[in-house]
Amino acid sequence: MPDERGEVIRFAPSPNGWLHLGHAYSALFAFETAKRLGGRFLLRIEDIDIGRCRPEYEQGIYDDLAWLGVEWERPVRRQSEHFADYERALKRLRDMGLAYPCFATRKEITDAIEASGVGLARWPVDPDGAPLYPGLYKDIPRAELNRLMWEGRTYAWRLDMEKALARAEEMNGGPLTFEETGEGPRGEKGLLPIDPMRFGDVVIARKDVPTSYHLAVTVDDAIQQVTMVTRGQDLFPATYVHRVLQVLLGLPAPRYRHHALIRDESGRRLSKSAKDMGLRELRAQGLAPADIRRMIGL
Ligand code: GLU
Repeated sequence: MPDERGEVIRFAPSPNGWLHLGHAYSALFAFETAKRLGGRFLLRIEDIDIGRCRPEYEQGIYDDLAWLGVEWERPVRRQSEHFADYERALKRLRDMGLAYPCFATRKEITDAIEASGVGLARWPVDPDGAPLYPGLYKDIPRAELNRLMWEGRTYAWRLDMEKALARAEEMNGGPLTFEETGEGPRGEKGLLPIDPMRFGDVVIARKDVPTSYHLAVTVDDAIQQVTMVTRGQDLFPATYVHRVLQVLLGLPAPRYRHHALIRDESGRRLSKSAKDMGLRELRAQGLAPADIRRMIGL
């Protein structure tokens, strides 16, 4: 049951491309769920990827959403302005002994997998399709670690998922679950178990920024007191990681409402590269918000 503050729901796009029909669906789904439940609606700009995010894309988000009739609270939280929050969370995980520096390049990872005898083709992948981290640099001796740091090699931070999950379960007094009020990709709903080992040792801070998607989302949803996370089913498994981080960092668990993804006529998922489905283009072609709603079945 929502408390007296009511529901807080957010739409959290990344300004690394123009919004397309899939975003329109997700934004309207979040906005209208908030409205229906008498809750608050927030927009959050997820711009930690400083190499790929651009100011014109961020402006495009504001323009497209306003055009669609979405209204959000100000000021908007922009993740790039809050790296200190994520650094604090990272430090806590490091102090708990659950994170380790990882110097590996992508090539080193694939080389290690090829050399393992299993081969890249048969190596397990995480829910995002990336090969599970083979553990390079995980248990290297202190002296070796110091040498790499002194050499100025750049490193990411990874969560030791096995240890992290065990610790989280201990802190939680049992296995972790989450409440799905929408539907997972296989129709999952209700109180669901998590399976974060499917991600292996995820990156919680990248080489170039002191956070990653998983850490920033978890910290922000708590700081912004989000009570219900609405997003596409592509991010359903990410919830497993977020729940582990929430418990370890002592953060409350929002409820989740995942929605099906919008697909084009051939059944393919829309992506940012599907330029013809860009809201900007459709708007320039003279379509109205009502046409967009029809196109996405709202
Ligand atoms: N920023 C993420 C994206 O653009 C969404 C984050 C979330 O809803 O958890 O896909």
